[in-house]
Amino acid sequence: MLKQIQQLKPNVYDYTLPELEALLQGWGQPTFRARQLYRQLYVNLAASFEAMTDLPVALRARLAEETRLGSLDLRREQMADSGDTRKALWALPGEAVIETVLMRYPERATVCVSTQAGCAMGCVFCATGQMGLLRNVSTGEIVEQVLHMQRVLRTNGAHLTNLVFMGMGEPFANYDRWWAAVERLHDPQGFNFGARNMTVSTVGLVPGIHRLASETLPVNLAVSLHAPSDQLRSALMPVNQRFPLHELLAAVQEYIERTRRRVSFEYVLLQGQNDTRELAAELADLVGGMLCHVNLIPWNPVPGTPLHRSHRRQVETFQQVLVERGIPCTVRVERGLEIAAACGQLAALPAGMPLVVA
Ligand code: SF4
Repeated sequence: MLKQIQQLKPNVYDYTLPELEALLQGWGQPTFRARQLYRQLYVNLAASFEAMTDLPVALRARLAEETRLGSLDLRREQMADSGDTRKALWALPGEAVIETVLMRYPERATVCVSTQAGCAMGCVFCATGQMGLLRNVSTGEIVEQVLHMQRVLRTNGAHLTNLVFMGMGEPFANYDRWWAAVERLHDPQGFNFGARNMTVSTVGLVPGIHRLASETLPVNLAVSLHAPSDQLRSALMPVNQRFPLHELLAAVQEYIERTRRRVSFEYVLLQGQNDTRELAAELADLVGGMLCHVNLIPWNPVPGTPLHRSHRRQVETFQQVLVERGIPCTVRVERGLEIAAACGQLAALPAGMPLVVA
């Protein structure tokens, strides 16, 4: 019962600064208190209301009484790659669960964030797609995932350098909440994270690409392509029937012309499906001349699918064909395979599992 009451309280991470000001003014507090609270949330990364010692005790007590400091319930964290990859499993209020992955490299630290619990897009090679859509993740819940990983990094004297919206879900299918999270994380009065260091990945929702092109913050765009023909792409990604390649690439070209930013095309390599030399040449013809980069992703195993990952030689050949035709192309470095934290593998286990920090 207490748990249910907790869940009904508003999440402070869902509030903008003006909304916090309005809330605290309604409680008879001076305006500067909201700014103090905002700094505690996004600069100090306070993990509890009690830790906000510059706020009066009575105010901290009222905040704890009437709001929640976050709504994600950490159920499990797993490590891989000698501790450089960390996957957090969260229970959301209700039944749904999501995952967040932190990847550390010598010069940078990237967090991969989920924007939906499950996904409605049904890409055949993706574990999340097999779950169907359970629910959208709120702005506060998107922000919380990032703050948690920044706290982890801070305790090790490091900090986040890159933020990718490539976890569970399709960000453009939850655009308003996702974009509010981008603005919150970017806010120079708070978390102050550079938009140029953020990348959003879309399955190819054309309206979302148009919308992103008109935004003022320079968030990078990655587009999941995975096939150079409509027939093959529709077989792998049902969304292609709604937004076929000519429409998708026209939207991407318009984005490039409006923003002057380079776009990444993601291409997961599936043995015998989309990894032949001929298809590499077709892909080069399709994206040639665009300000783009192709990111080849050796497919990561997903239980229950009849698919296989391309042989290494095939990956190298595919890359070589693209490079020979002047398309900038890299093969993604693999991370978190053994804890199912790699691309396309995120499919959280049911909530209620015991907390295990490995
Ligand atoms: S690849 Fe992305 S868009 Fe496709 S099902 Fe998986 S999470 Fe959804």
